[in-house]
Amino acid sequence: MAAVDPTDPQSEQEMGRIAFWLAPDDLRWLARHCCCGPEASDEDRDRCGRIRFRASAALHKQGLTD
Ligand SMILES: [Zn+2]
Repeated sequence: MAAVDPTDPQSEQEMGRIAFWLAPDDLRWLARHCCCGPEASDEDRDRCGRIRFRASAALHKQGLTD
């Protein structure tokens, strides 16, 4: 897993990403919530892990981890 890189708006845009604002409580929920059932594909598990990792990184960056 890659280290947490500081967000660079220019490079994020080059990767085709868009900004996504969430309240800290929603980020905490997202960071901990895995809904992958036993039938989930590897692609779904990868996506889930990526999203939860980024939610957690966003909280960490703001000093909001607990
Ligand atoms: Zn999941």
